Amino acid sequence: MSPERQPGQARWLVRGARPLGGRPADIMIEGALITGLAGSGRDGRELVSGPGITVVEASDLIALPGLVDLHTHLREPGREDAETVASGTAAAALGGYTAVHAMANTEPVADTAGVVEQVWRLGRQAGHCDVRPVGAVTAGVNGSQLAELGAMADSAARVRVFSDDGRCVADATLMRRALEYVKAFDGVIAQHAQEPRLTQGAQVNEGEMSARLGLAGWPAVAEEAIIARDCLLAAHVGSAVHICHVSTAGSVEIIRWAKSKGWQVTAEVTPHHLLLTDELAASYDPVYKVNPPLRTAADVAALRAGLADGTIDCVATDHAPHPAESKETEWSQASSGMTGLETALRVAHEAMVNTGLLDWTALADRMSARPASIGRLRTLAGDQAQLRHGCPIAAGSPANLVLYDPEPIRPVDPAAHASRSRNSPFAGMKLPGQVVATFLRGAPTVLDGRLTS
Ligand SMILES: [Zn+2]
Repeated sequence: MSPERQPGQARWLVRGARPLGGRPADIMIEGALITGLAGSGRDGRELVSGPGITVVEASDLIALPGLVDLHTHLREPGREDAETVASGTAAAALGGYTAVHAMANTEPVADTAGVVEQVWRLGRQAGHCDVRPVGAVTAGVNGSQLAELGAMADSAARVRVFSDDGRCVADATLMRRALEYVKAFDGVIAQHAQEPRLTQGAQVNEGEMSARLGLAGWPAVAEEAIIARDCLLAAHVGSAVHICHVSTAGSVEIIRWAKSKGWQVTAEVTPHHLLLTDELAASYDPVYKVNPPLRTAADVAALRAGLADGTIDCVATDHAPHPAESKETEWSQASSGMTGLETALRVAHEAMVNTGLLDWTALADRMSARPASIGRLRTLAGDQAQLRHGCPIAAGSPANLVLYDPEPIRPVDPAAHASRSRNSPFAGMKLPGQVVATFLRGAPTVLDGRLTS
């Protein structure tokens, strides 16, 4: 038997789910596609079950298109003690994701066709969700010389998103060249915006908390200066830049301005920056150490408003697993980063839906359609068409689907997570919701809240 998960061969009838939180409907899945959608029960019309069709009772569950993450650290190759492609994609499926973009700062760095193809193959073998490798912008993410962008784009992994994430492409000339290079094949440069000289030794948000705690500050201007520069460069070149993990109110303003000019600028915000503030650093618990750091309540409010009005395109997890020894140490020695795949939808539900800032239709846009567009996954054609993500829940779309129960409110338990790492800042926090099922091209990867394989 092939180790790769085949597209679904079976037929499924998802009965009574509420697509995008709307009226109940029946969803028919045949093979890898959604083949029918009809009002359920009260509307008088419903899809009829028959032999060979497995019925999933989904009344009171919300159906969303499979989520797409633009920013996942899967750690393999090299740091399998923190995560593997298999464990990270299992976590993704349990969080409702059907596609993740795997960041390039592995060991070795994903800066050649060979490494991106390795990650891509490992993803296909694991079969929990599609893995789209991100290629490094510079060789070895050393910031001094461009990586083999064209070779990675032409490889079997068909890389379209490039990033040195973890580090900033600080050299303006290199950034310009990278933008020029990827323009030829409709690629995008995803920038980790952090002016290195302004953030040397930085530990927490610069402001009241850094002063109070006596830790070196990470100033907002170090993010904003790079974002402004790169928006200008993208406009100058006529190419596409994507801003990773936007964390400050000023950044939102700059991106809003750049978008008003019609420039090809997109941006993401993490779940943790939508819900948590720098006040948590007062505990000196390194589980709250992250880069960019948690910011102020005013920043959180601006990020939520930016995501609501579309200035910030999408939620991206920046899932950054670390083994216990890297986190359970003193703050200044601890690694930066938080896990996020298994809690992202619940956090977005709490921060954006329960606050009335987004409805489920808009949340699906920010967590599926838009990240799929930025990752160049929505318009794949020809032999790639079956690999599309972020498509509407409609007949003819690939059957990538999440069934989500919005009702339960439960504390987050990292010990129950599929990720190899436990560094969730949401541990013990009561959050709404539960992913009940995830379908990838018509095959369930998660059923009854559990992995199917
Ligand atoms: Zn980053």
